[in-house]
Amino acid sequence: MTLQVFGLPVSRGVAIGRAVLVASSRVDVAHYFIAPDQIPHEIERLRQARDAVADEIERLKREVPDDAPPELVALLDVHLMLLHDETLTGATKQWITERHYNAEWALSAQLEVLARQFDEMEDDYLRERKADIEQVVERLLRAMSRQSVSTLAAVSQTRERDWGGEEPLVLIAGDIAPADMLQFKRSVFQGFVTDVGGRTSHTAIVARSMDIPAVVGAREASRLIRQDDWVIIDGDAGVVIVDPSPMVLEEYRFRQRQSQLERERLARLRHTPAVTLDGEQVALLANIELPQDAPAALAAGAVGVGLFRTEFLFMNRQGELPGEDEQYEAYRAAVEAMQGLPVTIRTVDVGADKPLERMSMSELRHEHTLNPALGLRAIRWSLSEPSMFRMQLRAILRASAHGKVRLLIPMLAHANEIRQTFEILARAKQQLRDAGVAHTDVEVGAMIEVPAAALQLPLFLRHFDFISIGTNDLIQYTLAIDRADEAVAHLYDPWHPAVLRLIADAIRLARQAGKDVSVCGEMAGEPAFTPLLLAMGLRSFSMHPSQIPAVKQRILRSDTQKLALHLASVLASDDPHAESKRLWTSGREAAAERAFSP
Ligand code: PEP
Ligand code: MG
Repeated sequence: MTLQVFGLPVSRGVAIGRAVLVASSRVDVAHYFIAPDQIPHEIERLRQARDAVADEIERLKREVPDDAPPELVALLDVHLMLLHDETLTGATKQWITERHYNAEWALSAQLEVLARQFDEMEDDYLRERKADIEQVVERLLRAMSRQSVSTLAAVSQTRERDWGGEEPLVLIAGDIAPADMLQFKRSVFQGFVTDVGGRTSHTAIVARSMDIPAVVGAREASRLIRQDDWVIIDGDAGVVIVDPSPMVLEEYRFRQRQSQLERERLARLRHTPAVTLDGEQVALLANIELPQDAPAALAAGAVGVGLFRTEFLFMNRQGELPGEDEQYEAYRAAVEAMQGLPVTIRTVDVGADKPLERMSMSELRHEHTLNPALGLRAIRWSLSEPSMFRMQLRAILRASAHGKVRLLIPMLAHANEIRQTFEILARAKQQLRDAGVAHTDVEVGAMIEVPAAALQLPLFLRHFDFISIGTNDLIQYTLAIDRADEAVAHLYDPWHPAVLRLIADAIRLARQAGKDVSVCGEMAGEPAFTPLLLAMGLRSFSMHPSQIPAVKQRILRSDTQKLALHLASVLASDDPHAESKRLWTSGREAAAERAFSP
């Protein structure tokens, strides 16, 4: 039966494929495809875990005190029986051999299947046995996580590329941590759906950087959609259609072909300089997460990297952070890949929805920090770990010997943080000089992403060579909306007059001071905001490479002088979005924008 699930559109286009469900288990589970030659190894891991759990349960049985209720032993017997039941272990092996899932993923996929069967049972007693199967699987997953730290590292190279199937796949998950999303980056998946997340959550950002359709905040999706269901992801409207009729399927296949044609048409703009009708040159830069993203930036016609989010190098490392040489190699790789174009490297921005270790949003919200977005994040974390920070600065400075590097500092708010940052930077430079290590004197910029920084911009302009406005966080902190929380996503409004006022003032003041200013939040890559940002005087936009062609098209059709005439009326309006559409948007463009607008 066809059903529709609604969420937030975060990455455009249409994806059609079979659902691969990543269940949110109580035990944190890694999901990756294994190479075919690793199938016996994964099955062996499953067997070892089963033996270990059987021993554990046998031991528990022996230790049951004589006066304990007899049901306790009976329960342990049920667990032993379930443990050896073919519908659990036999079917799990099938997920491993046929789908090439790693053992943990295979087990949680099978749990999902069994849990649904239990839910549908008429008999109360049998239905309640679902809790037992969950407990047994949990024991197995825990046993596997005890064996798996080294295994994880060993197979990390094989993730994703080993899917041997023919049919397109789409990923459906309760939640995907940004670090896991990154592992799916070069994956076989044609689209993503998650139950949680907001439009500018980092999971959504990485999905967008992959340029594949995605819907987040779809609440019940992972409960309503089953393994192998055919699914259409409409990334423009934020709708997921499960088990579509042939007619609906045909309609979406048509839309898919149309959007492919549109992409091909826009791709032809790659070598066209981004110059407005009145001759204003605009720099279109790329946001990247890994050095491997640099070729896509060049291919899209980016004139440099405006934001390299280095924190993705720091994630999921089981407590062992990258050392100076490893970081240096990564930064150098990005710089060399950009072939002489500038690369803006941002120091690590961990915390909030980008924890160092794999962690679900619910764990983050409820168990770790009361309010991670307001906690020890970005520069606050770096300043609390000065030797780590110095190490990263040295690695970035060393990469500057291989091309044009600019250094960017995230989340600054206090004069004191600025002072400490420069002290640590001076010390890092001194250390390199003392050791005779090559580096150059890089430009240093500040992210303006906390209202306190935007309101005190002259301080920042005095200390820094350039500023980069991080609208994702600036909106989050101005409107007090957690950008990763789907429950308040409807209030996350980039068009809010207070937000626009902060951005307009920052651009104006930076230009007056003769300092370079760019926007590197998601607004920069959204064509709906291009006329507005141009009118504000912005001439440097940084975005995912895939967004560059559409923004460039908008720039080519714009006249900044005409746009600027109406800026005051948009900023003064109670409804700047409506006003900007009235003044600046053609009918065709308006239709395309509706999907993204709040
Ligand atoms: C921003 O906040 O706008 C930004 C670019 O940084 P991030 O999305 O990584 O927080
Ligand atoms: Mg930010």
